[in-house]
Amino acid sequence: MKKDYLDKRYIFFRDSQRCYYCNKLLKIKQITLDHYQPRSLGGTDDYFNLVTCCKRCNKFKGKIVPTDAEVIQLKLFKRAISDCKIISRVKNVNQKSLERMLNYTTSIECKGGIAEIRGDDFTLYIEKNKVIRADGNTLEYINRSFKDEN
Ligand SMILES: [Zn+2]
Repeated sequence: MKKDYLDKRYIFFRDSQRCYYCNKLLKIKQITLDHYQPRSLGGTDDYFNLVTCCKRCNKFKGKIVPTDAEVIQLKLFKRAISDCKIISRVKNVNQKSLERMLNYTTSIECKGGIAEIRGDDFTLYIEKNKVIRADGNTLEYINRSFKDEN
């Protein structure tokens, strides 16, 4: 997989240079990127659905959605936001407000290549590591940052 919106090295170092499944220490040449929730089952190309994987484990991983998929996606989503790896393409959402929204994010659902990130009062739609649409009370999170910091 070689795609311009993906930074393979980021995923490799985020995962401590180890296969997510067998924990084997790898060189970057040896890795594959595994869709934690398989693409064929709705999994997206976002950083929070991709993990470092050795070739052997990738071969044996079946086409199933792991039971902890959402927990892992939420964890990696928070990490990706903190690392400034999710870019906003919409008004009313910026890096600062994304960081603030993290505390209110409750669920992730990947379907048809798009991830829906839901919070108490917002929904973010993410495709290929970019926020492509935002519904709900997103302006509040931008304004809140001004209030707190000034
Ligand atoms: Zn492995």
